Amino acid sequence: MELLKKFIEQLPQALGQSSMNYLIIVAVYLIVWKLLKKRLQNWRIQVKNRVDAKQIKSELINSLFTLTVSLVFIFVIYYLKDEGYTKIYTDINEYPKFFAYCGFFIFLIIDDTWFYWVHRLLHHPKIYKYVHKVHHNSIDVNPFTSLSFHWFETVALTSWIIPFSLFFPMYVPALGVLQIWGFLDNIKSHVGYEFFPSWWNRSVGKLMTSSTHHNMHHSKFTGNYGVHFRIWDRLLGTEFKDYEAEFDKIQAQKKGRP
Ligand SMILES: [Zn+2]
Ligand SMILES: [Zn+2]
Repeated sequence: MELLKKFIEQLPQALGQSSMNYLIIVAVYLIVWKLLKKRLQNWRIQVKNRVDAKQIKSELINSLFTLTVSLVFIFVIYYLKDEGYTKIYTDINEYPKFFAYCGFFIFLIIDDTWFYWVHRLLHHPKIYKYVHKVHHNSIDVNPFTSLSFHWFETVALTSWIIPFSLFFPMYVPALGVLQIWGFLDNIKSHVGYEFFPSWWNRSVGKLMTSSTHHNMHHSKFTGNYGVHFRIWDRLLGTEFKDYEAEFDKIQAQKKGRP
């Protein structure tokens, strides 16, 4: 009963956050895909217009499962924290400052590594059709694809936080920044347009994935598995060889050159 009471108390805040995320996705779709459609037509990564109403409808249905599972996941973490099982904390003085200041960067690297390996596992021919196929049903991606997953994939991709929090101090604001970063990075990967500047891959930005990077994963399927950084793909030789050429091609297209 106590647990149920806690869940109900936290429901409005969790629902509010999910609704906010959803509104941002709808806003990005309306601005980029509708309002600026003509102006940004040379910024599109996949030129063929393959997204249709049927795809968006199924992405919206999948999103509801994703958001529901995310809510349950947040509740589980709150519960474990309240019961004192985790080292998740809000008082900055509870652990050495290192954990508060460096936490986000450590979490980002772990999240990227976890994503890469789980993602590769989800592509295993024996399990692909049961879980990850749902996300890959979208070949040409759009903002709604960013929440279109099988519910189990949502659990698998975020589950590292639970065992990790049992032994590593996790400062709540650092976790919050990771959540915001992950959300924005996910939209960037699925927006369907390349907004990074032409010099991106000739700067330190080259360490990071771009919208084109993940878009190629959807259109070509067997490479570019990384989410935040290109490091694992480069180390394991799974990055598409023509990725940078494709990125430059879109930049030329943006400047009006064929
Ligand atoms: Zn995939
Ligand atoms: Zn994707």
